[in-house]
Amino acid sequence: MSDCIFCKIVAGDIPSQKIYEDDLVFAFKDINPAAPTHLLIIPKKHISSLNELADGDKELAGHILVIARKIAQDQGFAKSGYRVVNNCGKNGGQTVDHLHFHLLAERELGWPPG
Ligand code: AMP
Ligand code: ZN
Repeated sequence: MSDCIFCKIVAGDIPSQKIYEDDLVFAFKDINPAAPTHLLIIPKKHISSLNELADGDKELAGHILVIARKIAQDQGFAKSGYRVVNNCGKNGGQTVDHLHFHLLAERELGWPPG
């Protein structure tokens, strides 16, 4: 999608602080962190939201979670704990229409979220 900021980040047209990249996914630091570690893990291909995740995207969806776990281990906060969260649609608080999973860590997170 030509007007999607996260597609532009994947393409390198908008700068980001990349944490991880492979054929399927891209992970980078959130520009407005809500925790000492706040990363976004996104599919490289444009998927607008969880609502548009197709049956054929099961491998991609599972891969995103495996990468979240790997990043948590690599960055050393797997044991202390972390949160992986997706905001979907207006009531979910989604503001960028390219599927993304927040990875938040290194502070005690409250529940339920606001
Ligand atoms: P959401 O509200 O779940 O759609 O989350 C969108 C997230 O994207 C927010 O946490 C923003 O801070 C973050 N964000 C928006 N633009 C950028 C950008 N250019 N680089 C990094 N993070 C961004
Ligand atoms: Zn996109």
